[in-house]
Amino acid sequence: MTGDFQFSWELSGSGWATCRIADRSSEHKSIVSYCTDALADLVDGVTGLYGPTSTQRFSFDLEPAEDRWVLRGRGSDVDIAIRRFPDMSTCFDAPDEEGALSWSSTQPRGALGHAVVEAAQGVLRQHGEEGYLAKWVRYPFPVAALQELRRLHLRDDDCPLEHDLSLP
Ligand SMILES: [Zn+2]
Repeated sequence: MTGDFQFSWELSGSGWATCRIADRSSEHKSIVSYCTDALADLVDGVTGLYGPTSTQRFSFDLEPAEDRWVLRGRGSDVDIAIRRFPDMSTCFDAPDEEGALSWSSTQPRGALGHAVVEAAQGVLRQHGEEGYLAKWVRYPFPVAALQELRRLHLRDDDCPLEHDLSLP
């Protein structure tokens, strides 16, 4: 299931993370700034797919561009669309359609949930909470948000893959 879908989040330097998402046919990569609590927004957005609101939106600040993720739950699948706007500070309330579609894919919710949990855990494993804060500066690692997403993923997705339960 995750053979086709890949997601990674790496702290690439002080105040920057490299976010990469790919399916069998294409990949999207962006350099995300610490101006927002980006990893928490991502985790919360995916967590929202387990609740009653089927559409989730969050944006990454690429300084100055905005990458807006629009996640639409459809049964057990999620339509993922990433739209690029030229300027985060002026475009944040622009309609989705005004942003150029940079990448889109439809994936099982379980694959997305699993990949995001794995990626966030990998960041925590590598840097620890202190190391994360030292690099991301403005926001701490979203421990509680990650726990909640993992709880829902394990409860609702019937995921056959392995999970690292040693991390918070
Ligand atoms: Zn899983």
